[in-house]
Amino acid sequence: MDVNGTLIWYYNICKREVYLMSHGILPNQDDENIDIGRFIHENYYRRNEKEIRFGNVAFDVMYQNQNKLIIGETKKSSKFLEASKWQLLYYLKILNEAGIEAKGVLQYPEERRRVEVELTDENIIKLKKMEEEIINIIESPLPPKVEECVYCKNCAYREYCYA
Ligand code: SF4
Repeated sequence: MDVNGTLIWYYNICKREVYLMSHGILPNQDDENIDIGRFIHENYYRRNEKEIRFGNVAFDVMYQNQNKLIIGETKKSSKFLEASKWQLLYYLKILNEAGIEAKGVLQYPEERRRVEVELTDENIIKLKKMEEEIINIIESPLPPKVEECVYCKNCAYREYCYA
């Protein structure tokens, strides 16, 4: 399994989720009250005409001004802002490697919030490290140990971790 934006997102939430997801152990996708289930639903089933597929990643184009492409997402809540930011940075890195200059934007209309995301040399290095660690997690014979975190309470994988 190749690294993709979804795994980058999971990595920034919980490393154990990276293992479970990449080994085909799907969380409850129907429970709209469960955050991770909602993420899966949004990312796997919410596809629209603005979507661009590029290699093994897909993302939405927000708009294009002059010669700069702006990609991003519109989301309900900024609860997963950090993970969403890294996911978007990963897409920007892929475009950058193909010689395409782009910026990212995360929009939270219900919170009247807009976060701009820009690729820097420093976060390219961080993303490369994340990719290496994700590969190590995927190839490991066992999942990382359960580490209780703020996301456990509403995680659709909690039965795997706490049953
Ligand atoms: S329940 Fe907690 S430890 Fe288990 S996968 Fe979810 S976030 Fe990770």
